[in-house]
Amino acid sequence: MLTRDELLNIFKETGVLKEGHFLLTSGRHSAKYMQCAQLLQYPDKAEKVCRDLAEAFQDQNIETVVGPAMGGVIVAYETARQLGVKSIFTERENGKMTLRRGFNIEPGTRVLIVEDVVTTGGSVKEVIEVVEQAGGEIVGVAVMVDRSNGNVDFGYPLHALLPIEIETYLPEDCPLCKEGASPAEKPGSRNIAKS
Ligand code: ZN
Repeated sequence: MLTRDELLNIFKETGVLKEGHFLLTSGRHSAKYMQCAQLLQYPDKAEKVCRDLAEAFQDQNIETVVGPAMGGVIVAYETARQLGVKSIFTERENGKMTLRRGFNIEPGTRVLIVEDVVTTGGSVKEVIEVVEQAGGEIVGVAVMVDRSNGNVDFGYPLHALLPIEIETYLPEDCPLCKEGASPAEKPGSRNIAKS
């Protein structure tokens, strides 16, 4: 298992975790910003991180790993590859999460649900519904990053590699603004990953 520091280092190296002074779409400011897709640019790093997801459930006879598109597609694939099992993904059709492309879950299949990051947990809850309706047996939920501050309960065991709280501030209360930092900028406006 990677330690929290090792995982944070991978996230900083790959640009998942950015530090600076950010203007979020909500209008609030923050000193950190996360974009999990950055990790999946690097298959060797994704392999290391997904190994921890796979290891957490390796003795539980998982038969299928399923994740929601887009964030969960590669995470499901890589975790399933390491478990030696099938990988599928759900996606929205007319706003409703569903299995398409001929994917199916046989009743009784032991399913691991994965996702890159959980904030409100909405997508994972929708995947849970899809799997339950198909009659799959949900063994647990494995996520790379849990930003819910302990506020999500899926009703199944949750394994999160990195629980992390990212504080956000109203512009007038922002400590970075008060310190005279350079103006808050939209994440992704330039590459500012720091290691
Ligand atoms: Zn600020």
